[in-house]
Amino acid sequence: MNQSKEVIIFDTTLRDGEQAPGCSMTLGEKLKIAHALKDLNVNVIEAGFAAASPGDFEAVNTIAKEIEGPTICTLARCNPDDIEQAHKALEANPNRRIHVFVATSEIHLKHKLNMAKEEVLKAAYEGVKMAKEFCDNVEFSPEDASRTDHDFLTEVVNAAIDAGATTINIPDTVGYTIPYEFGELFNHLITNCENADNVIFSVHCHDDLGLSVANSLAALESGARQVECTINGIGERAGNTSLEEVCMAVKTRKEYFDFHTSIDTTKLYPTSRLVSSITGMHVPRNKAIVGDNAFSHEAGIHQHGMLRHASTYEIMKPQDVGIGRSNLVLGKHSGRHAFLDRVKELGFEISKDELDPAFKEFKKLADRKKEIFDSDIEAIVLNADTSRLNTWELVDLETSSGSSWGALADLKLRKIDGTVHESATEKRRSSGPIDSVFNAINQITGYNLELINFEIHSVSVGEDAQGEVTVTVNFDGQDYRGHGVSTDIIESGALAYLEVINRIERNRERH
Ligand SMILES: [Zn+2]
Repeated sequence: MNQSKEVIIFDTTLRDGEQAPGCSMTLGEKLKIAHALKDLNVNVIEAGFAAASPGDFEAVNTIAKEIEGPTICTLARCNPDDIEQAHKALEANPNRRIHVFVATSEIHLKHKLNMAKEEVLKAAYEGVKMAKEFCDNVEFSPEDASRTDHDFLTEVVNAAIDAGATTINIPDTVGYTIPYEFGELFNHLITNCENADNVIFSVHCHDDLGLSVANSLAALESGARQVECTINGIGERAGNTSLEEVCMAVKTRKEYFDFHTSIDTTKLYPTSRLVSSITGMHVPRNKAIVGDNAFSHEAGIHQHGMLRHASTYEIMKPQDVGIGRSNLVLGKHSGRHAFLDRVKELGFEISKDELDPAFKEFKKLADRKKEIFDSDIEAIVLNADTSRLNTWELVDLETSSGSSWGALADLKLRKIDGTVHESATEKRRSSGPIDSVFNAINQITGYNLELINFEIHSVSVGEDAQGEVTVTVNFDGQDYRGHGVSTDIIESGALAYLEVINRIERNRERH
């Protein structure tokens, strides 16, 4: 009998992923992602860093109470206060894990912790011991492990195992290691640590050199059995190991690795879209597995050849990762049932509350556009999120422009209290309609945002395709992104810009 080994998928989208600039999420948004992660069948959800702030505590606590199935985990430093907070946040869920960490590299000891090696050893041992009093399932991470002296790292890991850790996670915190070297580190630890057989070794990588997935796979080959990763690889700086890439590598090269995961890979694409919609962090077109171009035969030109000899070019099928494939196009006469069926086929969950507004949007779009494609439906569903509280909503927008005189915009916005606000018409020289619209929004909402980036791309194909605009702004030293979708690109711009302002408002509420 040939039983492949299971790789535990530890998702940290809600903890490490959320630390990506501009990716902070509200409680409702986190909960929505937690539900999607559960449906995806991840083994562990790291729901946040409970001691970081009351908001973080509440998020971890709510997820622990509401999500049944996966292990719910939270991060804690090796101190009594953090560990107590972690315990309080997780208490309600019998399937919980406390994850304690302390930095171990020379450079962190010297410049961050100002601690001697003996003190770090003691902190690791006592941190695990303390967590163990509250919870059987304890994970320990020596931060910056990849830059830690091997002998000292072995000592620290021994201390953590001694104290009762059940998972030992080895992070490449700064994305510095390379695959062969990292594999050797795992070999070293598994060979040299006492009682290494009693714990599960885990890997946590960052993508600063673009090697996070390769490094994680190297660690698995050297004996690690848990991968820490995020949806779309979001995370600080260049991000974390991408969940979808690791899982599809293991699945596609099953014979080579002899591993399996519990992930329902057909949920990868919808989960990726959900996370990118909530965080406003767009997935690059050429991103492996979930990028628009990942299955290039999507383009009409390639279709004929691909249909005949798909396997000549395809190592994975788009269906395997949940990219819907149907020739049926919905339109004006499609009813609620046809709409709902397609939403489900595309792998999205839609609540009863969301169905009505989503179907209304669909009808509105069908009036403006002859054929409604899967990507249009996806955009509707992701924007129908009622868990988001929007301070401002677009009521009406009129613009006109001319190359000789500039542009003007008339704008009406509705505030959350129900009041409608109108912009003063202002004719501006030497600026286009988008600029006028943004100025009108600033005027009404009282914001003055520094625009960093404005991107536009088409959601589907054809002359009447919807345009999706992504804007990035800086406010108070923090980046915010938002996107908007419409058949009218100026309206898309207005929606994207408003989403940014709503995001800023939500973030203010949170702090
Ligand atoms: Zn990290």
